[in-house]
Amino acid sequence: MLGDVTDFLLAHDLDINVFTLAIAHDYLTGTDGRMMRLIDHRIQARDPLTAEWLEKISAEAGSDEREVLNRIMSRLESNIDAFDRTSSAAKTAASDYSEALTAHVGDLGRAVAPALNHADHAGHERPGTNTQMMQELVTLARAMVERTTMLEQDMARSMLETRALRRSLEQARRSAEEDHLTGLPNRRAFEHRLTAEFTAAREAGEQLAVAFCDIDNFKRINDEHGHEAGDRVLKSVASSLAHISDDRCHVARHGGEEFVVLLRGRSLHQAWELLDDSRAAMAERRMVNRATDTPYGKVTFSGGIADVFAFPDPRSALRAADRALYRAKSEGRNRIIVANPVSDLTARPLSRKS
Ligand code: GH3
Ligand code: MG
Ligand code: MG
Repeated sequence: MLGDVTDFLLAHDLDINVFTLAIAHDYLTGTDGRMMRLIDHRIQARDPLTAEWLEKISAEAGSDEREVLNRIMSRLESNIDAFDRTSSAAKTAASDYSEALTAHVGDLGRAVAPALNHADHAGHERPGTNTQMMQELVTLARAMVERTTMLEQDMARSMLETRALRRSLEQARRSAEEDHLTGLPNRRAFEHRLTAEFTAAREAGEQLAVAFCDIDNFKRINDEHGHEAGDRVLKSVASSLAHISDDRCHVARHGGEEFVVLLRGRSLHQAWELLDDSRAAMAERRMVNRATDTPYGKVTFSGGIADVFAFPDPRSALRAADRALYRAKSEGRNRIIVANPVSDLTARPLSRKS
């Protein structure tokens, strides 16, 4: 199987990494029927199997599963909340009950003591039936206090466990929205953010811009320095872009060597300027492969930016930003181009490959 996987990757000129290995494995074993059909179709049409295309189809396939996961997690969260509320209430009730019972045992004890004393003074007489009954009641009540206290402690423990469970769930949710290589929010987080920022900007009458950025000639870095070095460059570009992020500017990894930026409360020009400054700063840097001490050469990125409200909906604005990015590539790279609400909206879908 390993040989087949390698042959498949070499035949389609794909880099060998965890992602492509998994795809090749799923394709060859037929684990994912939909993906297998899409790949076969593409091979028959003699279109190249690029990493970008594979990422696109696997992201599309994942979205349904992610939605299901999301629903399960939300349900789990509301169950935990309900359990937490119930156990909180039960703990308070147990605690009140235990307090009342303790007071009651005290009263009973004080009531029984004179009768016992009296029996003692009267020459070791056996206590009367009433006194005996009261004594048994005191013992019983004491046992009940003990049990209630234990119950209270169990409740407190289970509440702590519930809270730990909730924390793990929050952690899992965060991790599902984080890109593990760069630590940036991933495409899924970005989708949520886009919806939220779009609504907030529209309500507040603020401007909103969205940009696509893509590292220039990144394949060359992988080819010349290896995939691991490519990963390090990717991280470095990500953290350089992340410098512009704040509570009104969100940077996410959209996939591969592509990033998306969402800027609220800035004019299109201001947003462009901010992004272009980041591009210029990146182009000024000279990065060196620390493992081999060889320079990477200039690492730059291109971008396309769109004014979201100049388009019928956020999706169209995203598509237009993507087309403006394509123009930035074809016009020489290392530049940010503003999307045209007319031509970039009506343009035919373009293949990014140039
Ligand atoms: P362009 O300027 O037109 O964008 O050229 P490019 O070489 O950057 O574009 P292309 O789409 O041909 O290549 C992108 C490369 O990025 C191919 C893919 O293997 C690589 N890549 C995507 N994701 C990762 C990753 O997570 N790590 C590494 N090291 N490489 C990646
Ligand atoms: Mg690129
Ligand atoms: Mg790309």
